[in-house]
Amino acid sequence: MLISTVVPCYNEEKVIGLTYNELSASLRDITDDYEIIFVDDGSRDGTLAMLKAFADGDLHVKYISFSRNFGKESAMLAGMRYSSGEFTVIMDADLQHPPELISQMLAYGRQGYDQVIAQRDRKGDKKLGTFFARTYYRMVDRLTDVELTDGIGDFRMLSRKALDALLTMNEYNRFSKGLFSWIGFKEKIINYRNRSRAAGSSKWSFRSLIHYGVDGVLSFNNKPLRFCIFIGAFAIILSLLYLIFLFVSIVFRGIDLPGYFTTIFTICLFGGVQLISIGIVGEYVGRIYYEVKRRPHYLVDETNFEKTDMK
Ligand code: UDP
Ligand code: MG
Repeated sequence: MLISTVVPCYNEEKVIGLTYNELSASLRDITDDYEIIFVDDGSRDGTLAMLKAFADGDLHVKYISFSRNFGKESAMLAGMRYSSGEFTVIMDADLQHPPELISQMLAYGRQGYDQVIAQRDRKGDKKLGTFFARTYYRMVDRLTDVELTDGIGDFRMLSRKALDALLTMNEYNRFSKGLFSWIGFKEKIINYRNRSRAAGSSKWSFRSLIHYGVDGVLSFNNKPLRFCIFIGAFAIILSLLYLIFLFVSIVFRGIDLPGYFTTIFTICLFGGVQLISIGIVGEYVGRIYYEVKRRPHYLVDETNFEKTDMK
């Protein structure tokens, strides 16, 4: 198999037909040696029925359907595990990732690049959203050990080598932007014009974005923990200085009682610092808890793959 395309789909009945047609057309132009792996992430609309219909009429189409919604990361993982292509393309189901780029990606793949990454510009995005996204990327880039770039998402082509490397990472909390960057290998970035979703609606709410953001920072390092240590050390130094100051002033001027403001201020400030620190530690402990349970990332309900196809 030359090219496998992994497409995670969650409630995409409005757009999936269009995607299937455009993607097939682009792939057919390149080769006949391709497969499209649709991963139905527990959709509650007609997505699965449509995927089955595509598979009935087209041997290139494979589908994997989860028992419930496990999230895009799990859907991508499933698709990558079942992928048998020499090159694997990961793309969204909503045509925001133009299938025409695949031929260009393949050309670079054949030149020996292990990850051909599509980077979008931000034309037509909301100004505020762009601002937040840019700030977030800059922040995460600085906070974590992996490199993240604005405009780079999951749309990319992976060589067999890069894909196998990704599959060796079995962590439960998958932050794929970080994983992709962590594996390294020879990368090539190509640019494309930002597109809006062809139909249907986005699955991201503001809240889920915030959670995603926190995940990104926490999955890839222990700097937040170290940050707590530094704040603690800073607080200790500060209070030692204050203690000396108080001691000296008591020695020379005797005890004067008022100190209400300082007391309340200190209690509130360090109460906050302690709570945040405990929260951060808790986040890591929680992650460990999920990791040690070793639960599967997803459960497959139905698929037209043979059992032996999975890696
Ligand atoms: N998706 C998924 N599971 C989810 C949420 C999203 O498989 O729980 C898929 C979705 O069907 C789409 C891709 O992930 O193919 C990106 O989602 P979306 O277009 O809603 O995100 P956006 O482009 O707005 O960031
Ligand atoms: Mg989208």
